[in-house]
Amino acid sequence: MNAAVTTKTVKEIRIDVEKCTGCRACETACSAFHAKPRYSSVNPARSRIRVVADEVNDEYVPVRAGNFTRTECDGRHFYQINGKQYSECSFCRAACPSRDHFIEPDSGLPLKCDMCEDEPPLAEPLCVTACQPGCLTYVERQLLTELDEAAERDAMERGLQSLVDQHGIAALLDNVKRLSKGR
Ligand code: SF4
Ligand code: SF4
Ligand code: SF4
Repeated sequence: MNAAVTTKTVKEIRIDVEKCTGCRACETACSAFHAKPRYSSVNPARSRIRVVADEVNDEYVPVRAGNFTRTECDGRHFYQINGKQYSECSFCRAACPSRDHFIEPDSGLPLKCDMCEDEPPLAEPLCVTACQPGCLTYVERQLLTELDEAAERDAMERGLQSLVDQHGIAALLDNVKRLSKGR
């Protein structure tokens, strides 16, 4: 089988919970970056990173917003890390009805971390820059991926067939002719 190898940049934020002080500078930075206009306001309720804090047990876990979920899950596991017990929700990235994190307060829409995508790109996401204790670290790594040429050809043929089914071969050829003439 023919396969072409290509690289893909994977962007990650690594978290060392042992270094988190609960200062919440990351929440401030994220909400300011996503304010409209940019940096015009600070509201941690709009932040795409929230610190799940348990002051009594000295536990602070920064969590970046992931996918929206309509319902709570029923798995409530606990994790023992360096003598501390953390609940499953402390590490969960879901915008979930069990808590008020990652829901935009005005619109009620779920929020999701976008890695501070901007043009021109930032050197690193703003929550990482704001995190002075060094709990958050930005890492870019190259991932080798194999593109299966046969699978790609199959997918293209299926796509073309569906266009023919939808619009007919004559209309499709007509469009191709128009595009090739740049009209
Ligand atoms: S926050 Fe995550 S782990 Fe906790 S109930 Fe919601 S989906 Fe489940
Ligand atoms: S990477 Fe950007 S969008 Fe994501 S949590 Fe950090 S500051 Fe917010
Ligand atoms: S800025 Fe860093 S140390 Fe402060 S709460 Fe956020 S992750 Fe924790």
